[in-house]
Amino acid sequence: WKHAPATFRALLEITRFHGDKVFVAFEDERITYEEHFRLAATLANRLVDDYGVRKGDRVAVAMRNYPEWIVSFSAVLAAGAVAVPLNAWWTEQELEYGLADSGAKVLIADGERARRLPNTAIPTIVTRDENANWAEVLGEVRADVTLPAVEVGPDDPATIFYTSGTTGRSKGALGSHRNLGQAPMTVAYAMLRSVALAGKDPGEAAGVRRITLLTVPLFHVTGCFAVLMTTMFTGGGLVLMYKWDPQRALELIQREKVTVMSGVPTNAWQLLSHPALRDYDISSLGSISYGGAPAPPKLLERITRLLPNRTPANGYGMTETTALAIYNSGKDYLAKPESIGLPLAVVDVKVCDPAGAELPPGQVGELCMRGPIVIMGYWGKPEATAETFVDGWLHTGDLARLDEEGYVYIVDRAKDMVIRGGENVYCAEVEAALFEHPAVDDAAVIGIPDDELGEEVGAVVRLKPGAEATGEELQDFLRGRIAAFKVPVRFWFREAELPRNPGGKILKTHLRKETLGL
Ligand code: ATP
Ligand code: MG
Repeated sequence: WKHAPATFRALLEITRFHGDKVFVAFEDERITYEEHFRLAATLANRLVDDYGVRKGDRVAVAMRNYPEWIVSFSAVLAAGAVAVPLNAWWTEQELEYGLADSGAKVLIADGERARRLPNTAIPTIVTRDENANWAEVLGEVRADVTLPAVEVGPDDPATIFYTSGTTGRSKGALGSHRNLGQAPMTVAYAMLRSVALAGKDPGEAAGVRRITLLTVPLFHVTGCFAVLMTTMFTGGGLVLMYKWDPQRALELIQREKVTVMSGVPTNAWQLLSHPALRDYDISSLGSISYGGAPAPPKLLERITRLLPNRTPANGYGMTETTALAIYNSGKDYLAKPESIGLPLAVVDVKVCDPAGAELPPGQVGELCMRGPIVIMGYWGKPEATAETFVDGWLHTGDLARLDEEGYVYIVDRAKDMVIRGGENVYCAEVEAALFEHPAVDDAAVIGIPDDELGEEVGAVVRLKPGAEATGEELQDFLRGRIAAFKVPVRFWFREAELPRNPGGKILKTHLRKETLGL
């Protein structure tokens, strides 16, 4: 390469300089940067030579968080093809949807996923299974292997990530090599700001190698871009977990000397609530960051109490922004715990009314973003693309306000907001007030259709084990905290956990169906 263009192939070539440093740790397995390069380059050549994969072809990857996920993802991109990570929790039908929707030419899957798709006509490479033929597929892994010859530019498509499907069916978000290259730079900017806020300089901070514990799936953008790509970019180490488990996380932080834990708010909450927290030496952990779903202010309180002198951080991003876009950390976060922080370096932000006019600070409207991390559009969905991407601005579907200093506050998802007799009720605000009640373990607010008011406010609540509270008690409690029109008129109590997707987001469509049959 004459100069390093923003493509994954360029990044992959650079990572070779890290040589025998450990890149990925999983159980007792270790893969160094050099090994990763050789494995990925070997598989890339197989995809081209044996499977006929050409530039722009889609190759699906359906696996749990195994090292092979990373090798496969790298190989697909190195071959000039478009990587399509599929959700490993999907059922046969959902996996079939992802394969058909993306028009995948080849599937790379672990044994469990491959067995879930007994009838697929798509050539499948199986990675991890009792009868795995992975080694056979790879063939000889040569020390002098090179990447297949293919020209890839920054504006060529690189990935199709499926959105979480919180508000409807998952959409394929088509990202370019430029998006992928910008994602770790955006995170690097966030890291620099955190370091500066803590009164250090990057040189001091760089004295310790960054080892990140990945607590979320690689098939969502947080895991892949904010964590995996940033690890590659900084030459750090990545510790994989087969499945999230707070005790296992504590063991791994101690054993692998993890410096950063990154995931969704639920991960941090469960780690800090674990009874064995004090039994482990987790002194290496310098920062604990989360995003992808609203973080209750109580979580920050808990971090500062139980893990003082660590940098807590809340990141906001979407599949459509190649992960992180807005970030609040350290001192900033302590000063404004309800904010998701400031837009990062390359990101422009504005808040708009439904007609698209920009609103001044303090007013609530739709959050819109622009910048090189905003994806190219939705795969095969021109209408949804035209609706969401208007004049270069991504319309997030999230309601937000800015303060005078430009800090962003998310108030609700537009689709969740309840409009009661013309008054907007932001579910997130009512939920936060409910969380303050000592008996409440979890809560979700939903709109109930109402002839007179259009909608009324309802709440689905799960109480802590052994705790008791009636709807009237909760109403009395809320009346002291939020305006009367926001107080739910109806409560549903459930014993089971509230339905969440793997990203930690409550599935309100399921709750509406269960409680209201809608
Ligand atoms: P779908 O678009 O398919 O309905 P989804 O929007 O949940 O699903 P993602 O792209 O994974 O899919 O999630 C992005 C959304 O997550 C944002 O639009 C926002 O609502 C929420 N979110 C992300 N980070 C934060 C955060 N730090 N605080 C509050 N909400 C967040
Ligand atoms: Mg969305």
